[in-house]
Amino acid sequence: MGWLIPKSSTPILCPCDNTSTISKRHFFLSCPLLHSNLELLDLLLRQRFKNYTRPELPATEIDFLLNLLPKKFNSFQRQHWRHTWPVLNQLLFEIDKLSHPAATFDNEPTPGQLVFVHCSDTLSATQDINSA
Ligand SMILES: [Zn+2]
Repeated sequence: MGWLIPKSSTPILCPCDNTSTISKRHFFLSCPLLHSNLELLDLLLRQRFKNYTRPELPATEIDFLLNLLPKKFNSFQRQHWRHTWPVLNQLLFEIDKLSHPAATFDNEPTPGQLVFVHCSDTLSATQDINSA
């Protein structure tokens, strides 16, 4: 996650209270701007993984999920990814925006949408080939 949260000599204040410095610790332990999506992701992971426990810093829910990325693209259609991938994308986007307040961000499609549209296209193309 170090690649996402900048380490700067000038502290960046989080807009949640304009006093907390942007950091992994702030985002994952106390930032109200990320709280609901972190709670949702934690809930989804507890539902999908029997022995899941919330990681303790420096590990995070995001690290947990990134370590599970499937080797085959079509695997996003199965398992937990249909639920967890959009939340993961939204969290990464929020962290990116909060960590780079001077940056301009283009409008984004619905989090995770591009993966599932691509999976559907790939799946239907595969079915067409198999039925021919
Ligand atoms: Zn904050």
